[in-house]
Amino acid sequence: MSAVSVTEDAGGPADPAEPLVVLDNVNKHFGALHVLQDIDLTIARGEVVVVIGPSGSGKSTLCRTINRLETIDSGSISIDGKPLPAEGRELARLRADVGMVFQSFNLFAHKTVLQNVTLGQTKVRRTPKAEAEERARALLDRVGVGNQADKYPAQLSGGQQQRVAIARALAMEPKVMLFDEPTSALDPEMINEVLEVMQQLARDGMTMVVVTHEMGFARSAANRVVFMADGRIVEEATPDQFFSNPRSDRAKDFLSKIL
Ligand code: ADP
Ligand code: MG
Repeated sequence: MSAVSVTEDAGGPADPAEPLVVLDNVNKHFGALHVLQDIDLTIARGEVVVVIGPSGSGKSTLCRTINRLETIDSGSISIDGKPLPAEGRELARLRADVGMVFQSFNLFAHKTVLQNVTLGQTKVRRTPKAEAEERARALLDRVGVGNQADKYPAQLSGGQQQRVAIARALAMEPKVMLFDEPTSALDPEMINEVLEVMQQLARDGMTMVVVTHEMGFARSAANRVVFMADGRIVEEATPDQFFSNPRSDRAKDFLSKIL
């Protein structure tokens, strides 16, 4: 694999016969709050799933259960055929298959951009430093911040920082990338530069779960829209179907407020 290739099967269409992430009847509570209710969701290799829904509907919690930042109470989650284990080395290994990009960029403030993108590779993957740096530079180029490698995060714009965060996640060669409102904290003029990187990633065949309010992105990049409300998946459809002909009242109500 070349240093800039980030997916095993670049460019391939989503293949429903190849489930990569499978959530089966997942339930989770926060105390009395039933935050995820009977969630069944299968994401195919190469598929881009956009998750939308009102604030508090459980979108972030859903993402966090997929990389096991949150435990679940019942049901099961598997990634590439392997059940997500509770703990230990197996968990660390499986978690490395899942890249995550948050609303707040979460870069290490006291490390340079280059160090941010090499650290996980050398510490977790035990990649030799020179190889990790070569890969990091290629990824930073790819997301358009190759000339910022020696700066510290605070010296970059929000859009640049978020692109570094994407490069950092990609450096671990994840099988699936989770994006939780990656542009919500950005000034408007920086949103597109991040969405364009995500669009390119989608075109290259990365399997992606994207929580976003950017409906233009959902329309153009998603294979499927999943609409959540009150901890449930209320509706799933292609973007065309969903935006032109939402079936549920909840989705109609939500769309009437944001479009
Ligand atoms: P969304 O991302 O769709 O806005 P979240 O998954 O963040 O929704 O939250 C869903 C619900 O769970 C909200 O009511 C939120 O207040 C609650 N919640 C989220 N995280 C926690 C937590 N760690 N402890 C208790 N309640 C939480
Ligand atoms: Mg959220």
